[in-house]
Amino acid sequence: MSIQIAATVEEVRSKVKEWRKEGLSVGLVPTMGYLHEGHGSLIAKSVEQNDRTVVSVFVNPTQFGPNEDLEAYPRDLERDAAFCQSLGADLIFHPEPQEMYRPGFCTHVNMDILTETLCGASRPVHFGGVCTVCSKLFNIVGPDRAYFGQKDAQQLAIIRRMVEDMNMDLEIVGCPIVREEDGLAKSSRNTYLSEEERKAALVLSKSIFLGQKMVEEGETQAAAVKKAMTDLIKAEPLARIDYVEAVNGLTMQPIETISSPALIAIAVYIGKTRLIDNFIV
Ligand code: AMP
Repeated sequence: MSIQIAATVEEVRSKVKEWRKEGLSVGLVPTMGYLHEGHGSLIAKSVEQNDRTVVSVFVNPTQFGPNEDLEAYPRDLERDAAFCQSLGADLIFHPEPQEMYRPGFCTHVNMDILTETLCGASRPVHFGGVCTVCSKLFNIVGPDRAYFGQKDAQQLAIIRRMVEDMNMDLEIVGCPIVREEDGLAKSSRNTYLSEEERKAALVLSKSIFLGQKMVEEGETQAAAVKKAMTDLIKAEPLARIDYVEAVNGLTMQPIETISSPALIAIAVYIGKTRLIDNFIV
């Protein structure tokens, strides 16, 4: 039997209700689809920790800015379904935008402070969209646990903060970054890269590994680490830096001295493709 795909809120609710009647626990993995091993690690973790796993596949329009890649974002539901099934997931929630945003929709979940730096500074509407859609997904599915990748470290911190602030009754589980063999962090957006750009994109992970090594060897000055990482990226002609930042791992506010919990994060354009990477201290 192939994995069930629910397109409506009602279908998901009735399925989860059945499971709850049997006393089963439920994990949720929110994604935008075009799944890869990075998503796979979240799904596998959820399958391991819960009786049932729901994977949402939804390219959420409200988290894309006007000049971003909403239309171009890669989609392949059939392949995603086979992948979810192979990992033991139980249900895919794949709504159309009009199912999630009904006529008259005008309620938004916004957050201050954590959303104002890093990706939030260059993508002003992004995290409002993320908080709103994740709140909705949590309310629709009502999971015991939801799974997010450290790849999007600021998103993970924001979701944890939102759950804490709004007393949402679920556990947020963070999962480590999954990388290609050569180091590039797996991302659905890697499919945008030409062969030449794919090679150039290695400057992201190279600079992350360099920064990580400096910190491991005792460097505590954020400026020194950021400079070394910046210099490395600037040596790649196809790369254009959006940011190279060191922030407090909980508040996302810039720090001068690196001490735990810290997040060193970068966003770099390779051609027209904006890629991110990070490490935590
Ligand atoms: P996306 O489909 O890009 O919205 O990502 C859905 C979830 O998968 C988010 O929690 C991401 O952080 C996570 N994710 C994406 N890529 C990776 C990766 N390479 N390693 C770990 N988690 C990832």
